[in-house]
Amino acid sequence: MTTIQASDTAGPGQAAGTVDTHCPYCSLQCGMRLTGTPVQVRERPDFPVNRGALCGKGQSAAAVLSPAARLATPLVRDGGELRPASWDEALERTVAGLSAAQRSHGRDAAGIFGGGGLTNEKAYLLGKFARVALRTINIDYNGRFCMSSAAAAGRKAFGIDRGLPFPLEDIPHSGCVILVGSNPAETMPPALRYFRELRENGGKLIVVDPRRTRTAELADLHLQPVPGTDLALALGMLHLVIADGHRDEAFIAKRTSGFEQARAAAMAHWPERVEQLTGVPVERLTAAVSLFAEAETGMVLTARGPEQQSKGTDTVGAWINLCLATGKAGRPYSGYGCLTGQGNGQGGREHGQKADQLPGYRSIEDPADRAHVASVWGIDPDDLPRSGVSAYELLDGLGQDGGVRALLLMGSNPVVSAPRAGRVTERLRALDFLAVSDVVLSESAELADVVFPSTQWAEETGTTTNLEGRVILRRKAVDAPEGVRSDLYLLHELAARLGVEKGFPDDPEEVFDELRRASAGGQADYAGISYARVAAEDGVFWPCPDEQHAGTPRLFLDRFATPDGRARFAPVTHRPSAEEPDADYPLYLTTGRVVSQYQSGAQTRRVPELNRAAPGPFVELHPHLAEQLGAADGDLIAVTSRRGRAEAPARVTDSIRQDTVFMPFHWGGAGRANTLTNPALDPTSKMPEFKVCAVRVERAEAAR
Ligand code: SF4
Repeated sequence: MTTIQASDTAGPGQAAGTVDTHCPYCSLQCGMRLTGTPVQVRERPDFPVNRGALCGKGQSAAAVLSPAARLATPLVRDGGELRPASWDEALERTVAGLSAAQRSHGRDAAGIFGGGGLTNEKAYLLGKFARVALRTINIDYNGRFCMSSAAAAGRKAFGIDRGLPFPLEDIPHSGCVILVGSNPAETMPPALRYFRELRENGGKLIVVDPRRTRTAELADLHLQPVPGTDLALALGMLHLVIADGHRDEAFIAKRTSGFEQARAAAMAHWPERVEQLTGVPVERLTAAVSLFAEAETGMVLTARGPEQQSKGTDTVGAWINLCLATGKAGRPYSGYGCLTGQGNGQGGREHGQKADQLPGYRSIEDPADRAHVASVWGIDPDDLPRSGVSAYELLDGLGQDGGVRALLLMGSNPVVSAPRAGRVTERLRALDFLAVSDVVLSESAELADVVFPSTQWAEETGTTTNLEGRVILRRKAVDAPEGVRSDLYLLHELAARLGVEKGFPDDPEEVFDELRRASAGGQADYAGISYARVAAEDGVFWPCPDEQHAGTPRLFLDRFATPDGRARFAPVTHRPSAEEPDADYPLYLTTGRVVSQYQSGAQTRRVPELNRAAPGPFVELHPHLAEQLGAADGDLIAVTSRRGRAEAPARVTDSIRQDTVFMPFHWGGAGRANTLTNPALDPTSKMPEFKVCAVRVERAEAAR
């Protein structure tokens, strides 16, 4: 196998040899091989996570390298229009925009909004840029919209947040797995193999989802609760575990704390009450408890369903309680895990893009953490800003008194992906200055004063951390089109023009080596992880405190990461969603993904074969609801919430509850699902409630 360097490539979009790398999209970070001219994607069977399997997005990933699909020059706005410009002009305009806002309104008037798809190196340097070059408190990122509730609940329970505390290869060896609000058949199809193997080995699969998804069809048991009631469902299961004598007394006594409070909360959620709240019949609840509690080992895996709620942290906490009460944590083939969404959803949340965080999961408010990172950065700890506001709060305050006036947006498209997206679009327009760095002219980039064309995926080298906590190396395989530069170069140039000449290298390995030092001793400790090791070992699991350390594929086998080593039960109780259906808005809306598009669709909507497979948004509705509306498959449906209205064709299916409609969120324009969603925030994680809001639906002609 040849690992080729930049100089070995044959030109834009062309590989001169064969390069082993990883997919640009989701958190599975499937291994793939790039070869040929023009470059083509091939299977890479030796990478253990996907063993050669790729979904349609991965198979077609080379299409996004085509110069025709992407930005190839900086753009600046003149007379209301974007026009091509030199890098110098775009950089000068950006420095002027950021500096003017800070001069007029103070340092915090400059802000940064990052993304969970950025490499570890970019995420790290972006956080440093905010704190050292701009010295602003205002930085957050779109990962806040993805896994933050699971992260908050994981930290509360276990003292540390790593999506999966075990590798995916452990799943087939478990006795029972509960998948909550997760649909890998659409989001990461190669991962389905692990659940199929689980069942082949005699293990049981339970799926909790308001829709009978393709994943639910594989399950031994499907529970189909009312959207937003997963918390009550988990409490009801814990109630039955306790009432039926399934709790693991020895585990609770030896390895946990706080059981009594959790028990008291669960006892108020008896099965008939839970049936009323969730719509899940008592006998199905009982069957689920039997399958899970009676299995020798078990796992609960959550995804965005329970997490993207205004009570997401408590909901995940309730599912963790179920694991702890049955002794299914901290031992092989058991435990709680979160199936992370974005490509670098794990690493992107560890190294300083979050408003309250410094690299290595350090706290920006903790004096010792501040001192360590300041020493690596060569600054006085007192010069480090404090924590700022969360992603939606930052976007909601754009252009207003006390809010950000000049924003640098990197690797994110909030015009499509943020909740209450109409309002967010207004706020972006209200900015004094907006710069966007992206691969394509996304809906958000179209609003910018300056657009930077950035290198992507196979055009640059960098690390990501997959959903297992495995740090992997994406290698450069092709040259970017002339005029396209890396985000590291952008930050290096901006910092220099802002007067910070040192500390912003544009070489990814140099940035990673600094990240290792900054994270050393922190929870997400990368100190022993080098590019050479990652390449040689098919990834290294953090924490890995030194180069002799083997890495940590499995956490918590001896102790949890809390001060006393015990996992903590969460004293949580059911509460309704922030917006429940009423006479004006009588239905639930829930949102999600389809297999052939990815996140805001900025890249995948430019790939012809993916567009053919998933050409546009739709509204999934039950046949009874369709009959009430007099609507058939394909009829245009208007969906209205308190925040706006969207239109998309009907897709009639009995796989959805009668009281619920579903829309995928990958498109802007009239079918934008996030026009409708509710930005009600979880008080701990600040996660918006993407998964539940109240809507009414009509045939579009009737609504006009
Ligand atoms: Fe890429 Fe995810 Fe598909 Fe794998 S499952 S090929 S990482 S999009």
